[in-house]
Amino acid sequence: MKNYIVVLLALLSLLYPTFAQKKEKPNGEIAKMLKEVSAKRIETDIRKLVSFGTRNTNSEQDNPTRGIGASRDWIFAEFQKISADCGNCLTVEKQTYLQEAMPPPRGRVPEAINITNIFAVLKGTTDPNRVYVVSGHYDSMCSNPADAKCDAPGANDDASGTAAVIEMARVMSKRKFDASIIFMAVAGEEQGLLGARHFAEQAAAKKMDIEAMFTNDIIGGVTTFKNAANRNTVRVFSEGVPSNETEQDGATRRSVGGENDSASRQLARFIKETADLYSPKFRVMMIYRRDRYGRGGDHIPFLEKGFTAVRFTETNEDYDHQHQNVRTENGKFYGDTPEYVDFEYVTNVARVNAASLARLALAPARPKNVIIVNRLGNDTELKWDAGTDADLAGYEIVWRDTTSPVWTNSVSGGNVTNFVMKGMSKDNYFFGVRAVDKDGNKSPVSFPKPVR
Ligand SMILES: [Zn+2]
Repeated sequence: MKNYIVVLLALLSLLYPTFAQKKEKPNGEIAKMLKEVSAKRIETDIRKLVSFGTRNTNSEQDNPTRGIGASRDWIFAEFQKISADCGNCLTVEKQTYLQEAMPPPRGRVPEAINITNIFAVLKGTTDPNRVYVVSGHYDSMCSNPADAKCDAPGANDDASGTAAVIEMARVMSKRKFDASIIFMAVAGEEQGLLGARHFAEQAAAKKMDIEAMFTNDIIGGVTTFKNAANRNTVRVFSEGVPSNETEQDGATRRSVGGENDSASRQLARFIKETADLYSPKFRVMMIYRRDRYGRGGDHIPFLEKGFTAVRFTETNEDYDHQHQNVRTENGKFYGDTPEYVDFEYVTNVARVNAASLARLALAPARPKNVIIVNRLGNDTELKWDAGTDADLAGYEIVWRDTTSPVWTNSVSGGNVTNFVMKGMSKDNYFFGVRAVDKDGNKSPVSFPKPVR
């Protein structure tokens, strides 16, 4: 009888799409939070980070005014201040390890050094073990990545990302979320993603449930592209085929598709939906690749460890104003200085991040062990594990044409753990499942694996 009702509801939903799809409205509390993100504070923090002269990972660790050590201590103190302002709601930590020398020319660490990540944990209220990580790298470089002495202001790369993360900690720590959020500044990025790799390895060893990771790297919206046609966009890079794909997963993917449906791609779609909802004038440009040509970022070590992760970067980059010795040559200025950072642009990127993190941490966890029953037939049956979220309302089935870049349709399935799409062949569409709570907060989509 229950199955009969479910099938009837599904049929009704297909006939009357409005019956099935309650269009999500912006959450007033998230909208209010986004207004608090301050361009002025982001500018102050970027200028403060630049004031340390260089933040090269090989630079001085014990000079109070210059080098990576001074910037490390300032970020730590800033997170502590933010925590004091929210009744010690954050746990602020330094994570240090000894990096062995990786001598040039191949390596970028001439002598063994300590590398320190700094992070602040905002503990979730009902599901604290489910974690979302937002990160920027506070280290910088000039033309030579191993040079510890040259001035390396790194205003865009990546004081912009670091300042955005600190500002997110300020506005988000005033609120409560179901799941935990980690605000992080890492070092050693320019030496080969070293700080992020250490964190990802530790997290994997501890079996931390990191459901999503964002890296913000070069989000300054360099002012030389102020008049570009695609100015009011930020790129979100997501891989299609998982970096940690197994031989068996690869065989399945070649058989029935899925090269456009990794968990990171679903996360990118979720972020785009968030921007469409909360930031209609500043959009997400999804880039269906892991990173830019010949370059990498701190999301990659997370992907390699099997975590879901994406990269935020400005839409147009100016290579005269990143990774350059500060100088004037033939009348032309080179260097990553604050004059080339558009603080309003950074603020808009921080808002897209904060809205996405808030939606993720308020929503139930994405459905686990989602399968599509692999048998001949023109109906499609999906199954998944029951979620344990206290405020879980149920699940939505989503689908799209196989050629569509984004999910286009959804139907409410109710609080069930299987659902049959009558008369809709799994051969003709891609399907997915997402969880919804009683307030209408939706998780990212989980893409099913075929199981006989
Ligand atoms: Zn960078």
